[in-house]
Amino acid sequence: MMHAYFSDDQLRHHGKTFIVAGERKPIPEVPERAEILSGAVSRLGLSLRAPRDFGMDPIAAIHDANYLTFLQTIYQQWQAAGGSELVIPNIHPFDRNGPYPRHHVGKAGFHLGDTSCPVSETTWYSAYASAQTAIAATRHVLDDGANTAYALCRPPGHHASSNIAGGFCYLNNSAIAAQELRAKYDRVAILDVDLHHGNGTQHIFYDRDDVMTLSIHADPSDFYPFFWGHAQERGEGAGVGFNHNDPLPLGSGDAAFLSALDRALAVMDDFNPGAVVIALGLDASRDDPFGGLTVSPDGFAKIGEKIGTLKCPTVLVQEGGYVSNTLAENLYQFISAFRTTNDKNAPKNA
Ligand SMILES: [Zn+2]
Repeated sequence: MMHAYFSDDQLRHHGKTFIVAGERKPIPEVPERAEILSGAVSRLGLSLRAPRDFGMDPIAAIHDANYLTFLQTIYQQWQAAGGSELVIPNIHPFDRNGPYPRHHVGKAGFHLGDTSCPVSETTWYSAYASAQTAIAATRHVLDDGANTAYALCRPPGHHASSNIAGGFCYLNNSAIAAQELRAKYDRVAILDVDLHHGNGTQHIFYDRDDVMTLSIHADPSDFYPFFWGHAQERGEGAGVGFNHNDPLPLGSGDAAFLSALDRALAVMDDFNPGAVVIALGLDASRDDPFGGLTVSPDGFAKIGEKIGTLKCPTVLVQEGGYVSNTLAENLYQFISAFRTTNDKNAPKNA
């Protein structure tokens, strides 16, 4: 029986607005997403469990201490200085090698990579609960011998690096899950099927050969996050060859996505990971408001079926996927097909 995890604290964060092409727009990463996705989880007949509190250690294994302090305190500092109800950056350093900024505007520019990760009074509570949800699903696999588990994470995580938020993401839930899995498994892979390149995850593990990162996404030449996600980014130092990007032309549908998935699974198979994290974005959907790719609900079933053939413990971590008339259906189709295949194929996680 597969378990799913979710904490109500994850509903508290609401970034309200972000800036797109110079215009202030409503942010699509809304609490309602989690309610829609939990509806799909219920329809799957899965029990939704609240995570235990595993504390800061698993989070601090991925994120810098300065950054974690920033996320917990910047709202109060911003307010005390007469700032607005959302912390939003307006200047960024060329690089982050200089002295750590003391001023709240400097800190915001240092740690917030774009305007789509505003910090409100409640952001930390939801980001922390989202990370705990990913850890709980991972620990269910590690400690209880489960073959798989689903973490309904919100806010998402894959655009967050060790010290920079971005793209609605604050704490990198998939990276935290992978690092936890490393306690038991020498080699762990993160396969990211979100519409957007998992730039934070790539950056965190870029020089490592023990965590392979693979991402299938809309071509960043034409799409967020623009600066990362090209095929030639393959890792650095010991990590060369352990990062795999498969950018797809805008508008690509089921066939192109499934071919890219076959390529990624072949690369991952050579790596022979002991456990896998799926960064499960659903925004490659043809109905998603971002409109980058055109994967159908049946396409998500086929993606779930292929990923279900993995012969190692697999943690599903929710990433993007925005409100549309098929958001719930896409999750339902993915997990339903994944579970059916996984139950048939996977050996017991001993
Ligand atoms: Zn996305």
